[in-house]
Amino acid sequence: MPVRPIAEGETVRNFVGGEWRAPSGDERRDVVDPATEETLAEVAFSDDADVDETVAAALDAFDEWRRTPVEERIQPLFRLKSLLEDQQDDLAEVLVQEHGKTLAEAKGEIRRGIENVEVACGIPSLMQAGHLPNAAPGIDETAVRKPLGVFAAITPFNFPAMIPLWFLPYAVATGNAFVLKPSERDPLTPTRIVELVEEAGFPDGVVSLLHGGPETVNALLAHEDVAGVSFVGSTPVARHVYETAAKHGKRVQAQGGAKNHVVVSASANLEFAVEQTVASAFANSGQRCLANPTAVVEAAVYDEFADRLVEAVSDLTVDNGLYAGSDVGPLITAEHRERVLEYVETGVSEGATLLYDGRDAEVPETGTFLAPTVFGDVTPEMTVAREEIFGPVLGLIRADDFDDALAIVNESRFGNAASLFTERGGEARRFRHEVDAGNLGVNVGTAAPMAFYHFGGAKESFFGDLHAQGDDMIRFYTDETVYIERWPDENR
Ligand code: NAD
Repeated sequence: MPVRPIAEGETVRNFVGGEWRAPSGDERRDVVDPATEETLAEVAFSDDADVDETVAAALDAFDEWRRTPVEERIQPLFRLKSLLEDQQDDLAEVLVQEHGKTLAEAKGEIRRGIENVEVACGIPSLMQAGHLPNAAPGIDETAVRKPLGVFAAITPFNFPAMIPLWFLPYAVATGNAFVLKPSERDPLTPTRIVELVEEAGFPDGVVSLLHGGPETVNALLAHEDVAGVSFVGSTPVARHVYETAAKHGKRVQAQGGAKNHVVVSASANLEFAVEQTVASAFANSGQRCLANPTAVVEAAVYDEFADRLVEAVSDLTVDNGLYAGSDVGPLITAEHRERVLEYVETGVSEGATLLYDGRDAEVPETGTFLAPTVFGDVTPEMTVAREEIFGPVLGLIRADDFDDALAIVNESRFGNAASLFTERGGEARRFRHEVDAGNLGVNVGTAAPMAFYHFGGAKESFFGDLHAQGDDMIRFYTDETVYIERWPDENR
């Protein structure tokens, strides 16, 4: 199937106060299909003036939007859900072309995004807070959740459809105005989503889109009319965003990088554990914050697990994500592929054993493809065990026993997610209580919470207190005023 160019020469535009306009900054970047290396579009970066105009238009819209009855506020969200569903096949194709993931992965991602729109449609119930009659003599007390103003979200390249939707629906349903600054590496999918937002009929300025890079982000972080910031991306930038936004007096939640573990107990169903570990480590070419790129395997089953795993990995097809048979697409850019290859070299030089060398496997000639690599005999202090590689590289660590496995997992400076494969309830219980990570899965390869639960994260994988998705989002986007009322009963 030939790859369809999205739109020749398309320049990606901002959406400000209900109008589409080109960003005014001088910096530019090509949006490239990593599978074909064709340039799909050009994205220009927004400068300080763009940021000022966008935030001013959003603040203007907030005044009216916050007073719009909640039942009216959710009507465009219902329309957005239908539009996203109607357009999901086209959106998925755009996503595959600018990102590289497979069509099935792209469709799954969009579905996960729609889920958040569905949850936010329940805001009339979810936004209610507490009321206590007779809190004191003659006094009733009520907590009232209020929106705060203009919120920004800064999102990464690896889920350009889903991650903006972790925030947008909740921000606007609670009565705030929302500004999205998506990744400059794949800005076309979020742009298409904002086109659907426009079609859904939100008032002008309630949702805005600003393209750009670090300077655009820094202007948002310092802007006095931005009430709060959500960030998802790598740990160094998450830390920077958290500190800078806090310094400017904003609410902030910042989700960072990851290096997750899957623990394989001696009791596990190995066939299932292998299938799930392969899916978790290599989906999205390993470019997932919930991927499990390290398997900590009890010594008693290590050899059998490794043999079965290598067999499963050798069956994976690496190809353009638009092709039906593709299991693993390309990496986002050629530079990123080089970086992943350097990690493979480091693994070899630090003494890990190459059980399956992706560098030797057959991949398409054009494109930033890299086949999966599996390392055995990895130890926790090796670079490939400690650092986020964000590519199709899986390392196996041999654990003496279950206690040793839990200790290895908890040594990590990251704490985004962890999974356990076991047939023993007692191990599952210990895993749940003792592992320090925000998303835990038992007999689940990728611990991805549904939208009505928050998306966890701990240690250097998360800076803040309220997470993305679900009830946390409603608390992040509102402040609770306590309303205390006394009406003496004159008949007494
Ligand atoms: P990134 O940190 O490079 O970029 C994320 C966003 O920050 C982009 O919008 C980018 O324009 C902006 N940015 C980049 N450098 C900046 C700087 N110096 N100052 C201000 N803004 C800056 O991340 P990425 O490569 O796009 O995404 C991959 C990373 O995101 C991985 O580390 C992955 O683990 C992480 N991630 C985490 C989660 C989570 O939920 N914890 C989810 C998805 C991705």
